[in-house]
Amino acid sequence: MGRHTGAVCRLCRRENDKLYLKGDRCYSDKCAVVRHAYPPGEHGQGRKKFSEFGQQLREKQKARRIYGVMERQFRRYFKEADRRRGVTGEILLQILESRLDTVVYRMGLARSRAEARQLINHGHFEVNGRKVNIASYQTKVGDIVAVREHRKNKPVFKQIIEDREQQGIVDWLEVNHEKLEGKVIRVPQRDEIDVPVTEHFIVELYSR
Ligand code: SF4
Repeated sequence: MGRHTGAVCRLCRRENDKLYLKGDRCYSDKCAVVRHAYPPGEHGQGRKKFSEFGQQLREKQKARRIYGVMERQFRRYFKEADRRRGVTGEILLQILESRLDTVVYRMGLARSRAEARQLINHGHFEVNGRKVNIASYQTKVGDIVAVREHRKNKPVFKQIIEDREQQGIVDWLEVNHEKLEGKVIRVPQRDEIDVPVTEHFIVELYSR
């Protein structure tokens, strides 16, 4: 399956859940899930029950859409999670949370993961003083993520900080919004990852 290029709100409506793909709009009553609380399409209001497989598939698709990851890469993340010692589903989410685009978003340096991806692709960020323009870059504990020095006065960052001010920053990151930088201080625990995903369904799906 290729990258989705249509209206992103349809993805949330398909999952019947807010996936927070659009930034500010997601927190307003303009949100499509608030206005149309049923899946899109002709049969949207008729669909009610999923089979076991259907439920597992929906959870996997939801996670992929939240983090903006393609199927092949998502499967790679699962393999890596399965290889590591611990609870596979939780490790999978920790790997996804360690992606640079998610870390930038969690630090409040972008209004959505999609915006974080775009800013990273355009070369606005560095990790430990070195430019990184790969959104899937895996950050580690101790990494310093920052807007590159000569990009710091771009108006977009001032606007982002203002827009995201009211939303708190997660405990596993340390952030200095004046310097436009932050540090990964630890790996998040499952109860600190606020994504509406039941990860054991994903584990079951890939273990079939
Ligand atoms: Fe659209 Fe955001 Fe609402 Fe999802 S949560 S439907 S992306 S406005």
